[in-house]
Amino acid sequence: MMTNFVNRKRCPVCNNSSIIELLSIPYTHPNIVSYFKRLYSKYYYPEINIDYNLLDGANFCVAECETCGLIFHKEVANDFIMVKIYEEWTDIKHNFQINLKIHSPQYVFNHVNEIFHLLSLYNNKSPDKYKVLDFGSGWSQWSRVAIAFGLDVYGHELSLAKKQFAEKFGIKILSWEKLTDHQFDFINTEQVFEHLTNPLQMLEYLKKCIHSESIIKISVPDSSRLKDYLKTKIDWDYISDTDIFNAIAPLQHVNAFTRPNLIRMVESAGFIIIPAQKMPYLTIVNEENRDKKLKTLIKKIRNEIRACFSVENERPDTRTYILIKIK
Ligand SMILES: [Zn+2]
Repeated sequence: MMTNFVNRKRCPVCNNSSIIELLSIPYTHPNIVSYFKRLYSKYYYPEINIDYNLLDGANFCVAECETCGLIFHKEVANDFIMVKIYEEWTDIKHNFQINLKIHSPQYVFNHVNEIFHLLSLYNNKSPDKYKVLDFGSGWSQWSRVAIAFGLDVYGHELSLAKKQFAEKFGIKILSWEKLTDHQFDFINTEQVFEHLTNPLQMLEYLKKCIHSESIIKISVPDSSRLKDYLKTKIDWDYISDTDIFNAIAPLQHVNAFTRPNLIRMVESAGFIIIPAQKMPYLTIVNEENRDKKLKTLIKKIRNEIRACFSVENERPDTRTYILIKIK
């Protein structure tokens, strides 16, 4: 049975049907079962209670588009299964605790830095006049920082527990249908597009929720080394959550973007890239160890500039990150 899965016969970025299957393993295969047990239990303690009856007949099937090079899952679980994963098969309270641990002060600071930069891109509009949407808001890490800045913050999220959590902080949760009632100045999508069955269509939908000067941020795992990785034999007993394999994590990361095919997608949806990306680290000037920190700052700015002018515009970190606006 495949009723809970969508079979993607065309590339979700360029819509070409010329695709090559790289691997295909049933979701009930012992390798996949042990992968879920080992890695999911780390995040969703004590045990992930997957109902394999609902996955029976579906495959972890990875394909590559011959036109744009996107590596993607051919078979994608629908929202019914996704809600099962995040709400029923897992321990949501433990997941929250794990998220608290992962998101260090540096991680929060990155959001502060990003929103600070974002505000500088608009002409000194008062913060409460910035209407922002955290699309796929998760545990509201980004939107809580946006609230602290005094912005007008909205969120969209599948998980009921995460929606309820967001609302405690004054984040206004919107349903899918209500998004187009709004014109957001900024839409944050942090680690979202790699999860979407129809990323291009989603981007086109989000275009209806913005105005001509709005900015959308897309941040996804960097999959530029995935193709080489897939040429080697996957050792299922040793995959870790920091492996390149994570870019195509079964059931979850269904699109493995590289910078070129991400750009191709946004351009075909009618967007352009904003060349100045993150402007980092503006807040350290009056701190202790200023000289040392300034040296680090200069190194980081140098990397930013190098990334902006390199051929593929690759950033030196593990994410592919772009800011876009309507062409
Ligand atoms: Zn393609």
